[in-house]
Amino acid sequence: MAEPRPITLITHPRFFDHDTGGHGHPEMPGRLTAIAGRLEGGPLAPLVTSTAEIKPAEWHQLTPCHDETYLYRFEEAALAGRSWLDHPDNQLSFGTYEAALLAAGAGIAGIDLLESGTRTVFGAVRPPGHHAEQGTALGFCFLNNVAVAARYWQQQHGRRKIMIIDWDAHHGNGIQAAFEEDPEVFYISLHEHPTFSFPGTGWAEDTGSGAGRGTTLNLPLPPGTGDAIVLALLRGRVASAIERFRPDGLIVAAGFDGAAEDDMSGLSYSPALFRDLGRLTAAWAEQYCQGRVLSLLEGGYHLESLARGVEAYLGGLAGVEV
Ligand SMILES: [Zn+2]
Repeated sequence: MAEPRPITLITHPRFFDHDTGGHGHPEMPGRLTAIAGRLEGGPLAPLVTSTAEIKPAEWHQLTPCHDETYLYRFEEAALAGRSWLDHPDNQLSFGTYEAALLAAGAGIAGIDLLESGTRTVFGAVRPPGHHAEQGTALGFCFLNNVAVAARYWQQQHGRRKIMIIDWDAHHGNGIQAAFEEDPEVFYISLHEHPTFSFPGTGWAEDTGSGAGRGTTLNLPLPPGTGDAIVLALLRGRVASAIERFRPDGLIVAAGFDGAAEDDMSGLSYSPALFRDLGRLTAAWAEQYCQGRVLSLLEGGYHLESLARGVEAYLGGLAGVEV
């Protein structure tokens, strides 16, 4: 059996300063506590190194993906004590703006780690990012952490072809919008079908536009979809898309709300699927990207299954049985 791969886990205490107001808001600080608690005493503990050495993303790192006017609007809303931005789903607190800059900064720090010899980085970040658009907060997301990291990887380190795999239960409309005309960033999403699920995007017919035609792959899934169908898609259409594209870098939008216990979707994934996602991702990273892969946390709201899913995924990435 191959040597286990060490995992670098990026997280930061300021992520707890993003207060979504209680009242049962699902995107709560306790999500990160649940993950940390599960990993600390668990079998992966010897393989996981945690770091909080991250800096807030700078505006010039965000503006490839977000309008300046939006960034001003977001900063002003948080600092002025407004309770939400653009939609009541997107609850704000005074600390939200700084937490969001740090969540985007975690992706940037993760890319720098990958470029300095680290192979497997997981960012346990919040707020999440994949629904955030150029000028709009949506679905608990303010800054598109994954999109910002992809642009940074290209611009700072010259990796041209970035593949983003998003298996959060919901379509990452913000990531798709950022890259749908860009042939150098390939976006793959597996999500509950838009007829049944937020945000109502991610149709199979959407394959990119202009020069980016063919570098978006949406795989919408009917409610109730479980491990077997997803695994078949991963080994079939996803694997062949990666083989054709031959990425220089791999970023995963890692959402765990497809878990059967998570009522934010009708999908029915077991922990074994998250383990297999980790194994496949590690294999793709080895084959095409010298092992380099950055994963950033997106959704996952049932605390116990979120923590179990993250552990299973990291175990798969590390190449150990959990
Ligand atoms: Zn989600």
